[in-house]
Amino acid sequence: MIDVKGLKKSFGEIEVLKGIDEHIEKGEKVVIIGPSGSGKSTFLRCLNLMEKPTAGEILFEGKDITKLKEKEIDHVRQRMGMVFQHFNLFPHMSIRKNITFAPVKLGLMTKDEANAKAEELLKRVGLPDKADEYPTRLSGGQKQRIAIARALAMNPEVMLFDEPTSALDPEMVGEVLELMKQLADAGMTMVVVTHEMGFAKEVASRVLFMADGYVMEQNTPKEFFENPQNPRLKEFLSRVL
Ligand code: ADP
Ligand code: MG
Repeated sequence: MIDVKGLKKSFGEIEVLKGIDEHIEKGEKVVIIGPSGSGKSTFLRCLNLMEKPTAGEILFEGKDITKLKEKEIDHVRQRMGMVFQHFNLFPHMSIRKNITFAPVKLGLMTKDEANAKAEELLKRVGLPDKADEYPTRLSGGQKQRIAIARALAMNPEVMLFDEPTSALDPEMVGEVLELMKQLADAGMTMVVVTHEMGFAKEVASRVLFMADGYVMEQNTPKEFFENPQNPRLKEFLSRVL
């Protein structure tokens, strides 16, 4: 589904991604871990072209999306849902509007269709009675579940999660991880940056360790956690496990 070849990204003089080659299959759940500042967010943001790569190719369903024009880029972004650490809900819009705004504005659904979809999604994320609330009235965990519903409203092919539980109070982490597990079980292709090692062990088809702008190691969760090879990864795991 996604083929990344020689991906590099610099900000000014600083090279943040130094050459990444990855292949993500349909239905895979790829979990990315690694120290702060290693380029995890930049990698995710390059995948959906929120950041423009400095070099390399990103093939999405066979097509190099780094060569597209702005208009076509929007189309690619619609195929990739993104969930952020800080939810990024529209504060002045009701929950229903948060979910229906993009698909209606982009002409993908009529207002009625989008409202019906929002209702279905709110049930799916366990918040069926929140359609008329505003984001400020929700807990962090609820906000993140709405952000996931909003991303799903576009019927994405793949979901990208950038530390979706890092800003949550501990007691709310579980409800968001549980929803992500449901999505995984339903067959969604997922790329997840997280510090939740339990989630990685339980849900990932593959775990990647990023450090210094490279993917330094990757493996099945069992091998990755039980038999790490790279000294940097061993040291990282000894601190987080
Ligand atoms: P991670 O998500 O692994 O913590 P990031 O991808 O956010 O790492 O950042 C990697 C490095 O790139 C950091 O040194 C950060 O300061 C830098 N960086 C990220 N985004 C920008 C930007 N828009 N402009 C300049 N530097 C950036
Ligand atoms: Mg980050």
